[in-house]
Amino acid sequence: MLPKVITLLRELIATPSMSSPLPVFDQSNLAVINKLAQWCESLGFRCEIMPIAKGKANLIATLGTGHGGLVLSGHTDTVPYDAQKWRFDPFQLIEYEGKFYGLGTSDMKGFFALALTAAQQFVAKPLKRPLILLATCDEETTMAGAQALVDARQPLASRALIGEPTGLKPVRLHKGMMMEGIKIIGKSGHSSDPALGHSALEAMHKVIGTLLNWRQELQQYHQYSDFIVPVPTLNFGHIHGGDNPNRICGECELHLDIRPLPKMKLKDIREELHFKVEQTLKETPFQIEFYPLFSGIEAMETSKHADIVKITEKLTGYEAQSVAFGTEAPYLQQLGCETIILGAGDIDQAHQPDEFLALDRIQPMIDILTRLITHYCLEDIK
Ligand SMILES: [Zn+2]
Repeated sequence: MLPKVITLLRELIATPSMSSPLPVFDQSNLAVINKLAQWCESLGFRCEIMPIAKGKANLIATLGTGHGGLVLSGHTDTVPYDAQKWRFDPFQLIEYEGKFYGLGTSDMKGFFALALTAAQQFVAKPLKRPLILLATCDEETTMAGAQALVDARQPLASRALIGEPTGLKPVRLHKGMMMEGIKIIGKSGHSSDPALGHSALEAMHKVIGTLLNWRQELQQYHQYSDFIVPVPTLNFGHIHGGDNPNRICGECELHLDIRPLPKMKLKDIREELHFKVEQTLKETPFQIEFYPLFSGIEAMETSKHADIVKITEKLTGYEAQSVAFGTEAPYLQQLGCETIILGAGDIDQAHQPDEFLALDRIQPMIDILTRLITHYCLEDIK
């Protein structure tokens, strides 16, 4: 027997699973994975735990067999928290004024409690197509869990829902994201004689000029009215070069962030960026180094005519929209899943102190999941 939804929520919130690029904050997610596996097994799911790294794993739990079907997907990790800013203990589920407070209630361990509660209604029913509960690790940092699924060509189902916080509205589009560092190495020397060095700062000035023109081109050729910012963006976020006014600047570094639209591949953008910079400083004495600050997440788009878009629009009463954050959707798409992002929490609460899930979102989300499982796993599809 599966515990009540509130018990599931409480236990998930009480099991810390923060991920962070800083080792001091990075935790294992195995306790969450084992808990989910235990609950899934009690419902008759077949569970596969996929080890990713030391203390990190994915769970692929399957009910029923066959082709087609539905994946309910979420990440088991949360971001770290700022203890001073929380009113409540982030690892204790607190109900207060119609909200459940706790780290991961909204983004997004809470989703598993709702998904399991919906799934348990199908345990004794003869599913025609599989229902898969997918729980990944390290979504908040490296996406290593999702990447491992792609690398393993993990067979999943033909449709997927990712329960990231979208306020019960379906999402079919998000931009991609990548961050890159560019370092230009020249030669320092006394400022009184320019012949003594090569100013990396002046070279970077040229590079920035090139990149501003490139941005303009990108924004002219790529436009998507479904996004609030309908063009790809390129932001210069950090620059540092040189040390003293009376020295020629020997080194200069620039950090930038690019948010591409769907159909713009990160690999192509990176290659073009490197090419543009190299061309700008061709036949000069400068050395150039590139280093990814964040290798990136691809943009995602599911067609507005896709079945999962149509059905979730009907179930929620909202037209599918775009969001400004990245998800594991591009990875699931690579595995052949037509993917929608739809969850009960709100993104405004994610990664914030006093993260909560409103109580009145819980039953509507369970109802949506129940209808989707019925449609994709139980009913005959024409
Ligand atoms: Zn999330």
